Amino acid sequence: MTLIICPQCSHENSALAEVCLECGLELVEDKMKFSEMAVILLVIATLIMIIYYMTMAPH
Ligand SMILES: [Zn+2]
Repeated sequence: MTLIICPQCSHENSALAEVCLECGLELVEDKMKFSEMAVILLVIATLIMIIYYMTMAPH
């Protein structure tokens, strides 16, 4: 099971936790940032694939 380590107190919280059980810091914001980062990485990977295909495709 995935654990979320609190950036404030380093407590290991359940991945389902919305706030740190130790200090009460909100962890939802970090999840949103992570998902945004995943989307950005997906877009970049897609662009690289398109550029690679256009470069390698015979003209
Ligand atoms: Zn904490």
